Amino acid sequence: MSSNSASVLAGALLRQEVLDLHAYHVQDSSGYIKLDAMENPYPVPPALRAEIAEVVAAAAINRYPDPGAVTLKEKICDVTGLPKGMEVLLGNGSDELIQLLAMAVNKPDAVLLSVEPSFVMYKMIAIFTGMRYVGVPLASDFSLDLPATLAAIKRERPALVFLSYPNNPTGNLFSAQDVMQIIEASPGLVVVDEAYYAFARDSFIPHLARYPNLLVMRTFSKLGMAGLRLGFLAGSAAWLGQLEKLRLPYNVGVLPQLVAEKLLAHHDVLLQQAEQIKLDRAKLYQQLREIAAVKVYPSEANFLLFRVANATVVFNGLKQRGVLIKNLNGGHTMLTDCLRVTVGTPDENEKFIAALQETINQSA
Ligand SMILES: *Cc1c(COP(=O)(O)O)cnc(C)c1O
Repeated sequence: MSSNSASVLAGALLRQEVLDLHAYHVQDSSGYIKLDAMENPYPVPPALRAEIAEVVAAAAINRYPDPGAVTLKEKICDVTGLPKGMEVLLGNGSDELIQLLAMAVNKPDAVLLSVEPSFVMYKMIAIFTGMRYVGVPLASDFSLDLPATLAAIKRERPALVFLSYPNNPTGNLFSAQDVMQIIEASPGLVVVDEAYYAFARDSFIPHLARYPNLLVMRTFSKLGMAGLRLGFLAGSAAWLGQLEKLRLPYNVGVLPQLVAEKLLAHHDVLLQQAEQIKLDRAKLYQQLREIAAVKVYPSEANFLLFRVANATVVFNGLKQRGVLIKNLNGGHTMLTDCLRVTVGTPDENEKFIAALQETINQSA
């Protein structure tokens, strides 16, 4: 069969929602200072690498992984300080858990609600699982528009609400009081997505026992394990026992389990890196504030959102100078001329600021 007839066949067989989707685009980053994807810029320390090499060498990769991932789960409960009675469900990254949750609640006409602008996967996953998606705009300072959100919850009765806490791509932490009101007003499940917990000053994990419709989702991607693909949901056994049925039995492989166990045994090392990143975030924020042509927004994550006169010109200017960040222009209307930069090492941040200053001076 020619590829032409394959594409005719695909067009006839695939669901319209799939045909209409734009693939999640990942830019080619080879050779650039990579400040586009909220990765931890620090490699694993050498002593720890040797330990990892040892467990990997001895790993039984001819066997299926432990389907219950018992040792890893214990380690996670340990370092997370989960309240008594709460459990975890592991995902191949937290993206997989968003999909699992959508599949679980997707009755006919079920609604997935989030705020905008926020993490784009909420909307994408709603669409490709066939849920109806409702996005409530944030206020102009990117805080929650509580009256509009509560009105939308009353009107749409969402089965699933996602709140990114802190929010990606705006970086701010919503008011905890507002989030609690949303949890209390929601007839469905509310998932607080704490992908950036290591860089923020607050968490909803201590509130898990208080709200029967609350789950907290975390990932280790932003803490230095993006390559391992490991996320988790924390909540009561009543929820997780049901959701566990939808988890594919071997979704976290032997090597990610072993390596994550090792890394979490040295959780303090990762947290120290996060503390360093927070200090560097403050410095970078100050440097961006001092550039007249830049408006930078406060952040409790490992990235900063900022606005310029022409984001695409600045994005390309940085790229020509070897620095790759994220251009958010052309996405949500509230992000017109916005760019997002991940906090890198002090040296990477200096190079970014120098390249930004050059680009702005040249285009002025
Ligand atoms: C990065 C990110 C995720 C996804 O993380 P993975 O575990 O790498 O899939 C989820 N939510 C938010 C808000 C993120 O920024």
